[in-house]
Amino acid sequence: MKIMPNRMDRGFYQYQEEFEEKALEVLRSGWYVLGKEVSAFEEEFAAYTGAPYCVGLASGLDALWLAFRVLGVGPGDEVIVQANTYIASVMGITINGATPIFVEPDEHFGIDAGKIEEKITSRTKAVLVVHLYGMPCGMKRITDLCRKHHLYLVEDCAQSHGACCDGQMTGTFGDVGCFSFYPSKNLGAFGDGGAVVVRDEALARDFRMYRNYGSEKRYYNKVVGANSRLDELQAGLLRVRLRHLPEITKERADIAEAYAKGLDNLLIKLPKLANHTTGVWHQYVIRCEERARLIAYLDEREIGTIIHYPIPPHLSEAYASLGYHKGDLPVTEHLADTVLSLPVYNGMTREEQDYVIAAINAFQ
Ligand SMILES: *Cc1c(COP(=O)(O)O)cnc(C)c1O
Repeated sequence: MKIMPNRMDRGFYQYQEEFEEKALEVLRSGWYVLGKEVSAFEEEFAAYTGAPYCVGLASGLDALWLAFRVLGVGPGDEVIVQANTYIASVMGITINGATPIFVEPDEHFGIDAGKIEEKITSRTKAVLVVHLYGMPCGMKRITDLCRKHHLYLVEDCAQSHGACCDGQMTGTFGDVGCFSFYPSKNLGAFGDGGAVVVRDEALARDFRMYRNYGSEKRYYNKVVGANSRLDELQAGLLRVRLRHLPEITKERADIAEAYAKGLDNLLIKLPKLANHTTGVWHQYVIRCEERARLIAYLDEREIGTIIHYPIPPHLSEAYASLGYHKGDLPVTEHLADTVLSLPVYNGMTREEQDYVIAAINAFQ
């Protein structure tokens, strides 16, 4: 049996008729940018998360950098962020000329809340948490800290659509919740897409202005903005997927549960959610000290796996100018050397899951 790390075609065929019907509807409408599909999606996604406002954007990275732009975080400012994240989280900060201050993660892959306060300086403006792999950070302590120190709180929810902490959805704890709808995300489009959710109406208006060349009124430009609009086709298709997101999430949770129950090998460590959180299993990330050998073993059995992520942002060539060296963030670097994402996708059969479980259990 050949198992790929992800199968986005399966997710399409699950709701093929609805997707095709919507695509045709939009194509035939003659209206392709900033129309009724985007407005409807924004309303529906806001309602889904429990946030008062949602603004559709062109990507998750745009959601991140525009968040800091709109909040006025720029050159000379510092943003505290977990070191183990996808590099886009960090780019959202540095595109604005602000400086990322890295904090090590806890054992749930989220920012270690106990290590935030020691990094706060007079230049600190915001904290960016990343609900990595769909495993939410414990938010109570972080929201308290941000309130106490008057810091903005931004959440990178690119992997955590529908994930909760204390029954509240990720993205609604801070000032801005940033989402990506890249095809492989839990709520995936058929191309690029993103959004922010916010509580504040004025902030929502700013995002609408920035995404459209900085104009609220046509050809009257108030700020230097961007072209970052979620298009009608993607918004329409996202509305279809959003209707099914609860069952999409449930299916992923069932796969994660099958792994948690079935995997039994002392050479690997299973992921564990933080207390009071519900994950959405964007990835199911195990740890193995002999990862290279495990990957080769699984390759031989045609089981594809991916490392999220092999090079932490502080050691990336793109950030050489920040001056970090190997050994500066040992917890993060050890994770980069040991994490491995097992196949998890909607439409993964029980036989495929059992094949992965049996193979890993036989690894020695
Ligand atoms: C995917 C992702 C992003 C970027 O989203 P794009 O839509 O690809 O720009 C940002 N942060 C995290 C954690 C991601 O997984």
